[in-house]
Amino acid sequence: MTDLVLFETPLPKVARLVLNRPDARNAQDTHLLYELNSAFDRAAQDDDISVVILAAAGPHFSAGHDMRERGLVANMQAHETVGTWCGFGCAGAERQFAREREIYLGLSERWRNMPKPTIAEVQGKVIAGGLMLVWPCDIIVASDDATFMDNTLAMGVCGAEYFGHPWELGVRNAKELLFTSDEVSADEAFRMGMVNHVVSREQLSGFVLDLAERIARKPLFALKLTKEAINAAQDAQGRVGAMQTAFALHQLCHSHNFQVHGMAIDPSFLETDAGRSATHR
Ligand code: ZN
Repeated sequence: MTDLVLFETPLPKVARLVLNRPDARNAQDTHLLYELNSAFDRAAQDDDISVVILAAAGPHFSAGHDMRERGLVANMQAHETVGTWCGFGCAGAERQFAREREIYLGLSERWRNMPKPTIAEVQGKVIAGGLMLVWPCDIIVASDDATFMDNTLAMGVCGAEYFGHPWELGVRNAKELLFTSDEVSADEAFRMGMVNHVVSREQLSGFVLDLAERIARKPLFALKLTKEAINAAQDAQGRVGAMQTAFALHQLCHSHNFQVHGMAIDPSFLETDAGRSATHR
């Protein structure tokens, strides 16, 4: 079986994790998320690694959650760290809540709090759940063809599970992004302060490696504490509580859709071009 996440060490002190489902536009199924979590853990635990790059194989960074995934509970059972909220037999809203709390909000928050500096190396499309891989990183470098979109509202849901939007984009930009479900270009994302640098596609990997190398020369403990201090400043603004509220509202949307439509999202989304490309190979 192909590794869904590659672990590379392109330079001393630098790990490069690569999402490796290019045929599925790096859509996140349960296995990819847990493999990515294992790769982050490996980089965190290795004293010879100071900086972690998160990159993606193929033309697109990530199409978001894999809406074609089947056997969700069995796929979670295959990984040992799940089932902490309820057993695998739980059902209904509890199962939806438990699964998404663990693999979406939980893992993204864990990566955001990883002690070592992280850099997202982003090209092509980043859609909805894809943002939950990019935003937890400390620095975001995008190629000029990158686009960012959260179209969950078109699915009858109030934003992706890891609700970083107001902090990443600013309040007004976050509302427009969500209300319209429109794509934001790399240049627009830079203007909004979401992206640190925009470079050409050809320059992307080299630029990120150079940045990682310069950071990796610094004392690691001071890097960790600087990251901790800045994250603490953001959390003092109420980020954690606000994101937990947004997550609860997100679950309310799923429950509403189940009650009205019998499925987690509004089925009218499946008739759109985006819905068709997300659910069919
Ligand atoms: Zn959800």
